[in-house]
Amino acid sequence: MKAVQLISHGAPGQLRYLEVPDPVPAAGEVLIRVRACGLNRLDLWMEEGSLPGAPSLPRIPGGEISGEIIATGTGVSQWRAGDRVAVQSNLFCGKCEFCLRGEESVCLKGQLLGVHRDGGFAEKLAVTERALVRLPDNVDFDTSAALTLASSTAMHMLTHRASVRPGDWVLVIGGASGVGSGAIQIARQLGGKVISTGSSPEKRAFAAGLGAEHVLDSTAADWPAEVRRITGKRGVDLVVEHVGGDVLLKSIDCLARGGAIVTCGATAAREIMLKLWSFFVKEQKLIGSYGRRRKDMEAALQWAAEGKLRAAIGGIYPLAETRQAYDALRERRVLGKLLVKPSV
Ligand SMILES: [Zn+2]
Repeated sequence: MKAVQLISHGAPGQLRYLEVPDPVPAAGEVLIRVRACGLNRLDLWMEEGSLPGAPSLPRIPGGEISGEIIATGTGVSQWRAGDRVAVQSNLFCGKCEFCLRGEESVCLKGQLLGVHRDGGFAEKLAVTERALVRLPDNVDFDTSAALTLASSTAMHMLTHRASVRPGDWVLVIGGASGVGSGAIQIARQLGGKVISTGSSPEKRAFAAGLGAEHVLDSTAADWPAEVRRITGKRGVDLVVEHVGGDVLLKSIDCLARGGAIVTCGATAAREIMLKLWSFFVKEQKLIGSYGRRRKDMEAALQWAAEGKLRAAIGGIYPLAETRQAYDALRERRVLGKLLVKPSV
């Protein structure tokens, strides 16, 4: 089959489009014909070699996968050839304390597709049946690939790790990003009033188009003051954050008493200096969020089927041009999710 392998780390790293042997499904696995695979910030971290734990190369990246089953390994009874599926990219053991209570996002033996195992920038993929979620009939492969990772991450943040009550103020950092575009829509559906940020007029217009009522220029030094002004000095109830560093600190300045920041990433910086006094006096919360549970994926796809969550697709690249998709994401020239497809 044709595939893209990451050969060596760097920014850009060395990605090679080549012919590799077809994967063979082991017991309990299925073979999937990949129909679409989204490109994620995680793929850039993998490319740079900045992920903790130095995964081995070469590796086929890509974790936001949709496709159809073309073969099943021994012992697979729930699935058959022709089934349309999304793939949960955070693989989990199904046996540890956390998996047993449905918290597979914090599985003790968690692995990431496209990082620890070959992922979806390929024509085919062999993966455990535990990772499969059936696609609703009216959700197409592109929508699924665009939503399954980023929007299920946002679903996990807004409906499981934190919550939104009707009327809450919700600040979504980077509304044009994958997580941001999902979070804006989910927060609005839950009755929240959404403020978002964007670094360019195009990104701000994009976030407004998804339902953000106010969108601030994140390159302006005083944007947290604008959040306080909009909320009548009160601050927001929830911040959806995925940048880290200075942006996370500024987000704390935007919080109301009793408010929470839920964070799922640290693109800008991985360490902060927190002023604890006002943090505990105002009873604020800082909540970590990692990946998603199966339930979050099912919810994101169900919301898509019901028209409550729409995929924001920023571009579609053939598999042979995966390199160009990486370049566009790294250079932040992207509005919405970039998809790679073996056959366009
Ligand atoms: Zn587990």
